[in-house]
This record gives sequence, C-alpha cells and structure tokens, in this order.
Amino acid sequence: MRIARFVHTGSGETPAGVAWGTVEGPSGADRSALTVAAIDGHPFGPIAFTGDRWALEDVRLLSPILPSKVVAIGKNYSDHAKEMGGDAPETPLIFLKPSTSVIGDRDAIRLPPSSSEVHYEGELAAVIKRPARNVSVDDALSYVLGYCAANDVTARDQQRSDGQFTRAKGYDSFCPIGPWIVTGLDASDLRLVTRVNGQVKQDGRTSQMVHDIAHQIAFMSGVMTLLPGDVILTGTPAGVGPIVAGDTVEVEIEGIGVLSNPVVAS
Ligand code: MG
Repeated sequence: MRIARFVHTGSGETPAGVAWGTVEGPSGADRSALTVAAIDGHPFGPIAFTGDRWALEDVRLLSPILPSKVVAIGKNYSDHAKEMGGDAPETPLIFLKPSTSVIGDRDAIRLPPSSSEVHYEGELAAVIKRPARNVSVDDALSYVLGYCAANDVTARDQQRSDGQFTRAKGYDSFCPIGPWIVTGLDASDLRLVTRVNGQVKQDGRTSQMVHDIAHQIAFMSGVMTLLPGDVILTGTPAGVGPIVAGDTVEVEIEGIGVLSNPVVAS
C-alpha cells in the first residue's frame, strides 16, 4: 500500500483540506494514471476509507508524515565512509534532524546564504508505526509502518567547520521525504539512485548498509523512544555531491518511486 498525505479541494460534503490516502493504480505508472482514496483519520491503525477520491494530479502531495523527530545514521555505507575519508563506525553514529527540516515531494530545497557547499544525500527512510523503546533486533521491523525515499541535505562546509551536525543538517527544507510511504515492502535489497538534473550521481543498493535497518532501530530505540511517525534516515551510498539553485534533485528507490525537489536560493 502507498500512503500519501495531500491537500485536496474538497468533494461533495467534504470541505477542502488535508488528508491521508492510499495511492491506487499500477506501481511505476505515470502519475496521471494514479488516484488517491482518502482514509478516515491517520494511517497508524486499521485503514478505513471515507469514499472520497481524487486524481493524483488534482491534489498537492505533502510530506507523507510529520515526525516528532528524524533520527539519522552517518557513514552507513562503507563506500560513502571512504569518500568522506574514513571507515564506517563500528558503533552506529546517529544524529537528529529537526522536524522543521521536513518537506514533501516537489517542495523546494532552500539553500541558506551562510553555506557555499550544500550536498544531496539520497537515502531510504523508514517510518515508525508504534512507540519503540529498547526493542530487539528481531522485533525491530515490526515497528516500521513503511518506507519512503529521502534526501539528507547537508551543508558540507558547515559539517566540516562545526565538527558536529546540527546546523549543517538542520536547516528548514533539508529533509525532503516522499513521495509516499510504501507498506509491506522488503527493504533489505532495493536499488537507490540519485539524479541531479537527470544525471545519475548515486547508484547503490540498501543491502550495502553496514548496519541494517533492524539494527539501526534497535540501537536508536535504546537511546530515545521512537514515536509513531518518527523517521529513520538509513544512510547514503557513495557519490554525494553539490546542488545549486536551479537544480532538480531526484531520489528514486525501487518499489517506492521518485522523490523530486527543485533547489532554490533562500
Ligand atoms: Mg546522511
């Protein structure tokens, strides 16, 4: 199931507003062939449909989730760790991105004037479905609602100069997530491709992660309680690089779809 969150123009008795819904139509089909069926309430429990439905092209997609926090892992693909000048850490290196950094598909990544080197990092995102605290590796994936594509946008110059990640990875718009959440997906070996202006920059597989998704969730949940809707960014493969105003960056993950964001000066 593909769960989207969107702004709609209303339908019958339903006033215009924001809803979650399931995206229907063939996987990989052109968006003009897809529809969204609104669900009643939120997607964390049993799904009930309201009966309202729109063509996907007639709604505006939002970030599929509003997390209380985004927990990310650094250097989790060894080929990326090497390009950053080191090895993948034996103990997962985790950091937070603020909830205010989250944007959705087609929303603009806004470059802060304080940085002259902003990079894309295409990543698989896992969305948590129920409170997770001290969960075991064996149970960890039962806490996942589904998966999205994501971009861990980073002001690389500030990451280097600050020696920690809060500013470099925390700007508003630095965490595109989308285009929707795919449930029931085996995410252990998916192809992940990042393109800038159509040119392939990253081409990896989620099976290349040093710490797999279950280990990440178990580790993170031993540090902080993960809440429904929280987003885990699972690391980026090799090939990170700069984006500038006027670019369009796309993260495509097999079985999920394409997350596309224009880049603008703020
Ligand atoms: Mg990253």
